[in-house]
Amino acid sequence: MEYSFPTILVLGSTGSVGEQALDVAAQCGITVKGISANRNWKRVAEQARQFGVEAAAMSDESAARELRAALADTAVRVYGGSEGILQMICETNAGFAVNSILGEAGLLPTLAVLDAGMDLALANKESLVVAGEIVMAKAREKGRRITPVDSEHCAIDQCLRAGSGKEIKKLILTASGGPFFGKKTAELQGLTVDDALAHPTWSMGAKITVDSATLMNKGFEVIEAAHLFGVGADRIDVVVHRESIIHSMVEYIDNSIMAQMSVPDMRLCVQYALTSPARTPAVIPPLDLLSVGKLSFYAPDEETFPLLAAARRALALGGAAPAALNAANEVAVGAFLERRISLLRIFEIVLEVTQALSHAKEAHTLSEILDIDRAARELALTRI
Ligand code: MG
Repeated sequence: MEYSFPTILVLGSTGSVGEQALDVAAQCGITVKGISANRNWKRVAEQARQFGVEAAAMSDESAARELRAALADTAVRVYGGSEGILQMICETNAGFAVNSILGEAGLLPTLAVLDAGMDLALANKESLVVAGEIVMAKAREKGRRITPVDSEHCAIDQCLRAGSGKEIKKLILTASGGPFFGKKTAELQGLTVDDALAHPTWSMGAKITVDSATLMNKGFEVIEAAHLFGVGADRIDVVVHRESIIHSMVEYIDNSIMAQMSVPDMRLCVQYALTSPARTPAVIPPLDLLSVGKLSFYAPDEETFPLLAAARRALALGGAAPAALNAANEVAVGAFLERRISLLRIFEIVLEVTQALSHAKEAHTLSEILDIDRAARELALTRI
């Protein structure tokens, strides 16, 4: 049987999810029309040739010059700078754009994809954390779909097929708990980047692996779920599930719980985001339940890991708070990865900056949100 897949752009094509999206494209015979990345022009040149793309963009201008030279013998249009990425989106139409850009830098591309009339497979959760209302309103205005490329939200999307919106009691996000599960604050002292990067079940980029270790990632995912599915934070629970086999659940009003299970592999999320509600032959290995044996569940330790609760507060406050939270976290995690601050200092900086800016001023428009983002980054830098 023939399956029909949309053509795609892959934004952030050299990151972990971007590479996995291209792997899905290769396995399924999906046409990739454009790719973008930050600085790694050598890898982008390889990808451009392998997939025969029409366009490629580098947000770093000098990397764009290198790429242009490397692809001089091809017809690939090469764009440079963050403006160049937006221009590529605007001039390279595909069915879907997979946005796997890292951090707040993914927000303007998200809006550009929707403006260009493409559906969005969203791996850049920061778009929804920073400007969830604006992004969801834009999708409605343009009549485009946003399908999540995040294992939890992909699972919820699938579980929601079992009931109607008004039958939902709550969403239950699962969390692996990260490498520091079970540790108390005193034991977190002195932990290093290498400790944080040893994720038990998922293979991911460095930034999101640290966010998983601090539970900031789970906090972002609560905000993401609230926007994607229109469910209030008071009806989004988090449960630690060490095996990462159940990717999330939906509990209905009759107390029936639907769960989605598979081996932990993001390629399923990319595939489902591009084809849902249809299902197409597997790109990941099957789940062997007998080798899993047991599934376990624990409450998250919100006292030791305060950023999950901070995300809930930021979502409830709205306005500037989620943007400040994200910006402070990006700066603090960046400094941690450069070994300039300790893990516990991430908590302090994020809590301080978010608190200082949450009530600073109203932030509803895109430019107000970008102002808060800048202010939070500046403030966080003074705390490093
Ligand atoms: Mg996730």
